[in-house]
Amino acid sequence: MSDLYCVFGNPIAHSKSPAIHAAFAAATGQDMHYEARLAAVDGFKPAISEFVAMGGKGANVTVPFKEEAFRLATRLSERASRAGAVNTLAFNGTEIFGDNTDGAGLVRDIVHNLGVSLAGKRILLLGAGGASRGVIAPLLAERPASLFIANRSAGKAEALAASFADMATVNAGNFAKTEDMIFDLVINATSASLSGDALPLPNGIFAEGCVAYDMMYGQSETPFLAQAREQGVVQRADGLGMLVEQAAEAFFVWRGVRPATRQVLADLRSKLGQ
Ligand code: NDP
Repeated sequence: MSDLYCVFGNPIAHSKSPAIHAAFAAATGQDMHYEARLAAVDGFKPAISEFVAMGGKGANVTVPFKEEAFRLATRLSERASRAGAVNTLAFNGTEIFGDNTDGAGLVRDIVHNLGVSLAGKRILLLGAGGASRGVIAPLLAERPASLFIANRSAGKAEALAASFADMATVNAGNFAKTEDMIFDLVINATSASLSGDALPLPNGIFAEGCVAYDMMYGQSETPFLAQAREQGVVQRADGLGMLVEQAAEAFFVWRGVRPATRQVLADLRSKLGQ
């Protein structure tokens, strides 16, 4: 019988993870089956127990269960501890290993797929939720010149910045605080694009040659990427590459094999009509 994996979320029906992992498994010759599983909002723990009892070997975790997965893990990777959230679980006997591959996925997409080095760059990270927290340590590990976290609720951004003070000086505040500042890379890790909202970003924050990256992805241009385009940013990317790269990293955690991602990403883009 094939080794069993899944992604837990709520909602989950439109997840692209089963297609991504099926493509990875086929390309690397791994005998595994990966499916999407809906867990009740208050039923994540029993859903995990049921899956483990079925022989499940590992799982990805998405909204709204990443923090609960963090608490449920009996052992955590260093990057999951830092992130305070888990998107990848591996089951081995009674052990539940929790990892977080989101940050590695983002950095790999930017550096490897987009060909943009982060060393010496001035980075603005928009948002202070789970996705933002998960990518801070991997971004800092690339040695940018500076990192500023801007969020609608300034206090959340300031608390987040303070929790990484042992790694680097990270500054934070509300969006207006970026007035008169200039950045080489602006990453949108807010969920504002989900509701179609534009962010109240001051004009002039995008440096010449700046890259705009929205973790959100979909068929049409996100409001954030439209803002960046209107302000003259040429290199703009959505989060589909991050999705594929975090999946490849999870695949590596489970199977010890790193799948190629270029074709899988190209296929997903053409399915989205991009
Ligand atoms: P959270 O709910 O944890 O955080 C949401 C963040 O967005 C908060 O900072 C919140 O600000 C901000 N926000 C929400 N609505 C608005 C708005 N209208 N205007 C300004 N700020 C707003 O979400 P996550 O961190 O888990 O996810 C954020 C985004 O990242 C989502 O779009 C998600 O789909 C995407 N993502 C993509 C991944 C990928 O692989 N491509 C992986 C993980 C996430 P406040 O604190 O003030 O409420």
